[in-house]
Amino acid sequence: MDNLLSVQEQLKAGKTDLTDHAGRYLDTINEKNPTVNAIVHVDDEQVRSQAATIQKKIDDGTAGRLAGAVVGVKDVICEKGKKVTCSSHILHNFESVYNATVIERLLKEDALLIGRCNMDEFAMGSSNENSIHGPARNPANTEYVPGGSSGGSAAAVAAGMCSVSLGSDTGGSIRQPASYCGVVGLKPTYSRVSRYGLVAFASSFDCIGPFSGNVTDTALMLQHLAGYDSMDNSSSDKPVGNYLEAVRQNDRKLKIGVPDEYFGDGLDDEVRQIVETNIKALEKEGAELVPIRLPHTKYGIATYYILATAEASSNLARYDGVRYGHRADFKKIEEELGLEVKAIEQEIKIAVGADKEEAIERLARLDTPLIRLYKKSRTEGFGTEVKRRIMLGTYVLSAGYYDAYYAKAQKVRRLIKQDFENAFDKVDVIVSPTAPTTAFKLGENQDDPVQMYLNDVYTISANLAGICGISVPAGTHSNGLPVGIQFMGNAFREEDILTAARQTELLNGGS
Ligand code: GLN
Repeated sequence: MDNLLSVQEQLKAGKTDLTDHAGRYLDTINEKNPTVNAIVHVDDEQVRSQAATIQKKIDDGTAGRLAGAVVGVKDVICEKGKKVTCSSHILHNFESVYNATVIERLLKEDALLIGRCNMDEFAMGSSNENSIHGPARNPANTEYVPGGSSGGSAAAVAAGMCSVSLGSDTGGSIRQPASYCGVVGLKPTYSRVSRYGLVAFASSFDCIGPFSGNVTDTALMLQHLAGYDSMDNSSSDKPVGNYLEAVRQNDRKLKIGVPDEYFGDGLDDEVRQIVETNIKALEKEGAELVPIRLPHTKYGIATYYILATAEASSNLARYDGVRYGHRADFKKIEEELGLEVKAIEQEIKIAVGADKEEAIERLARLDTPLIRLYKKSRTEGFGTEVKRRIMLGTYVLSAGYYDAYYAKAQKVRRLIKQDFENAFDKVDVIVSPTAPTTAFKLGENQDDPVQMYLNDVYTISANLAGICGISVPAGTHSNGLPVGIQFMGNAFREEDILTAARQTELLNGGS
């Protein structure tokens, strides 16, 4: 895996040319993507011509600070003129007419966008098996999953198909695949990076963040992604930290919290050993280890799967085949139901037109031709896991169950946040395994959603609390697969987790 800073030096010194450099990535995609399936769209011609344009700027000395970065983009982030499928049939034909803010920021600094990365449908999943493009595979062993939902973004970096990539993390979808594929993945603090142009899953959790082959490149990417954006009301106007400085603080003696709750039942013995070896090595270098408690950890999965599904059921309501998304075949509905196409068209006009009251009244009857169209479009458009989430989310928000589930989960979320606030009074960062096991085999957890959800046990709390987290390679399991270690940091303290991650990388022989 390339190191961005040294590639930039070589480009500046004229020792390499960006068109050749990008060409090597395209070659790797051609060679490996038929098996790894990390990239779902690449336009060779466009990539080569963009590379030539950026190379000219490098020659003129006018290139931006990310010239040399070759970036894969998770297929949930809008890129103008590109299909944004979210790995869903319902969006199979959707082409974005604008760029997400993160894309604008990368382009402004002359990063080269190489292709769109595979993912779980609407970012729901932990294995990248829920995808209309077929599963992505783990480059370390292609019988295994790369993790999810940003499986393609992690696998693409690990396989050398791009130098860095963008993913999204709602409950661990950057950190868990980073851990499974042996790369670095960072979830910023909620609101640190603009969500404008990120297709929404659970809006109070969703974060965009980078994958890279090393911690310094991660810092460099975050430096340019972070910051206030007037297009995203929830984005923070706090000043952006100096992340590149943070990765140089190799002598800083960090106070590292070690939570009991993250080393209990369900954790693979060897993963535990590898993570503990790393923690001991950090202590030997001067870090202070502080035992801490995060007592509400055990409620994390239940809380997340109530709140995130509730938000998803609301966010995904927009894919109705009328305003957005795949529309079921009118002709077929007409045949099946014996309805007039005209009647359906009339319903649509009413629903999107001025007479809202009439539309609402008709919709309340729940069996208009339009409702049938919605049902059929959504039945055809969404996959099984997405439907499961919509059903769960609708249930926990329904009148009779709202207090018992949704309202209660909101309270537990607050308690989990408080656990972290208390801990960060005493420590700089919190350490844990990123996931309880290494990658699992394709198909292994497909029929057992609860087992799949348990994968997120160590990553989910950071999203519930809105804090930042990073996964860094920590070693290799005897099964030959990578193991990641996670550092979680207080809100807007990305510097702390980057310092801890860089120190860990150095202890593992990183350059
Ligand atoms: N695996 C989790 C889920 O399926 C997390 C997904 C994510 O972070 N996008 O919800």
